[in-house]
Amino acid sequence: MSGQMDDTTTVAELRALVRQFVDRRNWQVFHAPKNLSMALAVEAAELMEHFQWISVDDSRRVGEDASALEAISDELADIVCYALALTNELGIDFTASFRRKMIKNEAKYPADEYRGRRQKKPPE
Ligand SMILES: [Mg+2]
Repeated sequence: MSGQMDDTTTVAELRALVRQFVDRRNWQVFHAPKNLSMALAVEAAELMEHFQWISVDDSRRVGEDASALEAISDELADIVCYALALTNELGIDFTASFRRKMIKNEAKYPADEYRGRRQKKPPE
């Protein structure tokens, strides 16, 4: 399910928000690609903390708890913020690389072979 803002906001707008946030604080000096990739991994770990000790079933119901969902959304935003900061630093066209990677994923995991399974079908 996407929300209204997702339907009307461009990647370029989000990248500009991140760039503006960084520029206003003169944080470019800290935003070496090495540092950004590590910060992104730290934020991913913070996201995982929300699911660390709960069951798979409880993880599927986490959206029913508004405060938990907001905390999880904050961590997702942190992850995407660092991902966009990294694209800004490296001059990556994120949409082009995302689409290119999805094409690679389609080739690597053909839907007919992987539908309902995470491993390739054994040869018959
Ligand atoms: Mg965080």
